[in-house]
Amino acid sequence: MDNCLFCKIANGEIPSKSIYEDDIVLVFLDINPNSNGHTLIIPKKHYKDIDDIDDDVYAHIFKIAKKIKSILIQKLNCDGMQLVQNNGSCQDVKHYHLHLIPHYEKQDILSVDEVYEKIMR
Ligand code: 5GP
Ligand code: ZN
Repeated sequence: MDNCLFCKIANGEIPSKSIYEDDIVLVFLDINPNSNGHTLIIPKKHYKDIDDIDDDVYAHIFKIAKKIKSILIQKLNCDGMQLVQNNGSCQDVKHYHLHLIPHYEKQDILSVDEVYEKIMR
């Protein structure tokens, strides 16, 4: 979709710290994380929100979310994980995305680059 930030990230027009991709989704680190390892899963195809997205794509996103959750827990030693998906007035970017937000009992704040290095090493 023209002028959609996450479509541009999905097609590589805008760079991202990507940690996984397949034909259907791209997974990358949030530019303004709530915690170390805050990650977004987006469908490569444009869907606005939960009402718009195809059921098959939705199911695939949650299958991948399980895998990514395990990777983040293993690489970053987080203690918990929030899965969040905003719609309507609380959704800033109008291209469906699922947030994976690690929770830590205690954490030292790292830069997105430092977190990316830890995940990819
Ligand atoms: P929403 O409020 O729409 O659920 O969340 C949008 C998220 O996208 C926010 O957490 C924000 O930090 C993230 N975000 C916005 N612009 C960019 C960007 O250009 N790159 C990345 N990686 N994340 C972004
Ligand atoms: Zn889009």
